Amino acid sequence: MLLHHLSLPHGPSVPTLGQGTWRIGEAASRKAAEAEALRRGIADGLTLIDTAEMYGDGATERFLGEALEGLRDDVVLVSKVYPQNAGGSALERACDNSLKRLKTDRIDLYLLHWRGHVPLADTVDGMRRLQRAGKILHWGVSNFDRDDMEELQEAEGEARDCACNQVLYNLTRRGPEWDLLPWMRARGMPLMAYSPLEQGRLSHPGLEAIAARHGVTANQIALAWVLAQPDVIAIPKAGTVAHVAENVAAAAILLSDDDRAALDRLFPPPVAPTALEML
Ligand code: NAP
Repeated sequence: MLLHHLSLPHGPSVPTLGQGTWRIGEAASRKAAEAEALRRGIADGLTLIDTAEMYGDGATERFLGEALEGLRDDVVLVSKVYPQNAGGSALERACDNSLKRLKTDRIDLYLLHWRGHVPLADTVDGMRRLQRAGKILHWGVSNFDRDDMEELQEAEGEARDCACNQVLYNLTRRGPEWDLLPWMRARGMPLMAYSPLEQGRLSHPGLEAIAARHGVTANQIALAWVLAQPDVIAIPKAGTVAHVAENVAAAAILLSDDDRAALDRLFPPPVAPTALEML
């Protein structure tokens, strides 16, 4: 399977289909199946792995430290820092703890999980310090709307080195198409779409009908739709090999103009500014 790749500004080239890890590695009874699923995904080219210090209170990063043994250099590892840790010595401490749990010497892309009370300039300074120390290779943000991105640009100055903004985007959450996605496109910054399957809750008879025409599932159509959006990266979470295989296969689904028009009717694009949603 040949996956599309995109280059992050100042950052690495990544496949447009990666793997999320929220709620992975938390239950002992599921760990073996989850590790197998993760490794199957990596073998199939889903080498972008997204995690966060928040997930399972560190348990997910610890799980990845084990599951990625021998595979660390094959993946682009993304982790996220809590807003309350996003500056000064707290940022360095949080990053060190993530590195320890992940059993690695560097995080490829380190994101501010969502905006909090730490001034953006402090976060930018702290991220650049971590970069200079080699602890992270690139940095970015998550859950930033267009206004937040504009403020961030002010805080960044000339360097404009933010590599990514990870936001909620799927068939039922199309708000970013109004202003955020065009703003990011104009700056060559891909959007990393989280919960691209709306956490497996997408169901609609019309979506099922399109899926039936393609001989695939509704979730696969939903993922194919996200993957068909230019400059968008999707990071579905799958806890089984079967789901990973379906998600990989979704990358090969070609939606026709008729399919896209039908999906636009079922899940209309925004017609006015919409507040950025978060999960
Ligand atoms: P998601 O990827 O939209 O959906 C995950 C759910 O879909 C799981 O229940 C999974 O079940 C199921 N699933 C996966 N593949 C499937 C398939 N082919 N067919 C049917 N069901 C399938 O939701 P998400 O986990 O919220 O989002 C993805 C990732 O984005 C997260 O894991 C996390 O890394 C990131 N995220 C970031 C933020 C943020 O604030 N930055 C917020 C939310 C999520 P199984 O586990 O049984 O396979």
